[in-house]
Amino acid sequence: MSAQDGPATDGDWLPLREELRGVEPYGAPQLDVPVRLNTNENPYGPSAAVAADVAEAVRAAATDLNRYPDREHVALREALAAYLDADTTAEVGAAQVWAANGSNEVMLQLLMAFGGPGRTALGFTPTYSMYPEYARGTSTAWVTGHRTEDFTLDLDHVRALVAEHRPSVVLMPSPNNPTGTALAPETVDVVCEAAAQAGGLVVIDEAYGEFRRDGTPSALDRLPAHRNLVVTRTMSKAFALAGGRVGYLAADPAVCDALRLVRLPYHLSSVTQATALVALRHAEELLGRVAELRGERDDLVAWLRAEGLDVADSDANFVLFGTFADRHRVWEGLLGHGVLVRETGPSGWLRVSIGTPAENAAFRDALTLTRKEL
Ligand SMILES: *Cc1c(COP(=O)(O)O)cnc(C)c1O
Repeated sequence: MSAQDGPATDGDWLPLREELRGVEPYGAPQLDVPVRLNTNENPYGPSAAVAADVAEAVRAAATDLNRYPDREHVALREALAAYLDADTTAEVGAAQVWAANGSNEVMLQLLMAFGGPGRTALGFTPTYSMYPEYARGTSTAWVTGHRTEDFTLDLDHVRALVAEHRPSVVLMPSPNNPTGTALAPETVDVVCEAAAQAGGLVVIDEAYGEFRRDGTPSALDRLPAHRNLVVTRTMSKAFALAGGRVGYLAADPAVCDALRLVRLPYHLSSVTQATALVALRHAEELLGRVAELRGERDDLVAWLRAEGLDVADSDANFVLFGTFADRHRVWEGLLGHGVLVRETGPSGWLRVSIGTPAENAAFRDALTLTRKEL
């Protein structure tokens, strides 16, 4: 029996924080199903050669495990900066880069440093469901505006909310999760200018940045224009390294310096740093399937539309589709045919991650059968 489905513990006696009482832990169900398209992972694992290189680097790191790792993870920041530099018109140097155990930790550190009691973080729903959790964890007030019908942002609404709430942090993914919607470049500019007037930072979460369609720019390009812009990335999605837990940001060097005040000592283990460095050396191979996944995504969007469904435009490796009067029955029907998708987003919609061509075909078959059965 796993800890997850063990007997319910009696925690009523614990001095649990009030705001945590009755709360369920975050996380998609980890079910053992043939086709898992529910957490936006890259379906392709590393080749045997890359896995062997990682193992060798970890073996080498193991000879030094009596020592703490490089607290400033300098070699990793240099490698990440070089990688980002190639993906943007801006120049990115190591002093502008900061990494942690997943971009989730990076964003939590941002709220630890720049949020807190008496401060506000602002987002726009539907959006990533972890944002309110970082706010809760850091006692930051969490305020949400809303996205328009097509999941884009109305700039007047954005300006009005920033002026009203004066957030110290604005959090927005681009492409957005769960809708797949990328921010227009002028939106990034408007939000950064509005937030700057209120003295706040803008965090553009580009967890899915590498999957963006041709012609969709990265917010990294706008770094030279806005001192208060922070762009986060992760190695979990396009880079196929979700199990390695490495996320990072690019921003003004002062932002990285401030995060050194809140990070735990030696937060990135030497094993993690060694793994990430090897992965970056093999970036070409690990990212090699991104083009295929983008193509599969565009094909799936077209297929779903041809089936008469509503589909949000996607710049990510997942697709939000619907709408169903009872989405839970559709989710269950798909599961019955061996395909796990995510029941998330606005009511009536479901989200499916892009898998291998065979997995995507299995999803299409399962959806066709499920709709017949309903
Ligand atoms: C998956 C995801 C992340 C990445 O999380 P990691 O902690 O880097 O694995 C960040 N933001 C969004 C919106 C995501 O969907």
